[in-house]
Amino acid sequence: EARTIGFIGLGAMGSPMARRIAEKLPPGSQMYVYDVVQPPMDAISEAFPGKIVKAVSPKHVAEHANLIISMVPEGRHVRSVYLDNETGITAANISDHIILECSTIDRSTSLAVKKHINTNFPKAEFYDAPVTGGVLGAEKGTLAFFLGCNENDPNFKSLVKLLQHVGRQVISCGGPSFGIATKLTNNYLSGLIAIASSEAMNMGMRAGIDPRVLSQALAAGTAQNAILDRFNPVPGVVPDAPSSNGYQGGFKVQLMRKDFALAVDMAKETNAKTILGPLGLKTYEDATNDPRCWDLDSRVVFRHIGGNEN
Ligand code: NAD
Repeated sequence: EARTIGFIGLGAMGSPMARRIAEKLPPGSQMYVYDVVQPPMDAISEAFPGKIVKAVSPKHVAEHANLIISMVPEGRHVRSVYLDNETGITAANISDHIILECSTIDRSTSLAVKKHINTNFPKAEFYDAPVTGGVLGAEKGTLAFFLGCNENDPNFKSLVKLLQHVGRQVISCGGPSFGIATKLTNNYLSGLIAIASSEAMNMGMRAGIDPRVLSQALAAGTAQNAILDRFNPVPGVVPDAPSSNGYQGGFKVQLMRKDFALAVDMAKETNAKTILGPLGLKTYEDATNDPRCWDLDSRVVFRHIGGNEN
């Protein structure tokens, strides 16, 4: 059956995602959007005349849309969007709704919201569905979704159909909160590889090796990795890497710090021993507080440790 779509949180990720969905709306149908600030709502509604309804609250979205995506910064924002007494999604009657919560947050917030929904609206479905691929992936529709459900889930096929407008891959991770666990695991590893790659490049360069030669050599051996290949932290090695553009674009260092902290918390909660977790977290905290790094791509950690950028 045709569902009405709602989109909450029109930031760096949410805006391009919502636009891609708006482009594919069937004739005559409308999408309900909400953000705490007005400009991104005005922008999308101007871009798609007659197709966008600017809602006044998440509750308002949920009163009209029964397939809702949310993309806000942190757990506290997710709580507010879903649980606020007067204005939250659960203040509406969401008895037949399907909800995709795409923010990168802690597992306990996601599970608490899901439990609240399942308790009060037994037929509604709530899934954690964080994404990887960044702003560029959102604009190009090449995101990957880590979906907190099983492939046999009755809604899986229709979710894939919706998400294919925004993403290239939808990976069903097994069950509630497993999408988030997958995302945090990914960013933990990718964050550590970025630090290790920065340290290794700095070391080799200080020994006198040209960074291009060094990167080629590492790519040929057991140290080969996606950071060196696509997001090389040394400016000038990979032309379209953020580092080669003054570390502009890419994944901001303060977002890496947030995700890394969530991952380290998950390791504690699950009694998973990590040796590098606290060191990695301290590194991203320090880099975030380094005025030469703030707001730049997280691979700016190379600059933070004193790498030569010339
Ligand atoms: P952003 O700060 O650019 O956008 C967040 C938006 O949410 C803003 O427009 C803000 O006004 C809105 N918002 C905040 N509180 C709200 C509320 N209570 N109700 C409605 N709207 C609210 O952040 P972003 O970069 O779009 O990231 C969103 C989420 O996606 C984060 O959890 C982030 O970690 C994750 N993520 C980001 C990237 C990336 O590259 N930026 C990549 C993957 C995942």
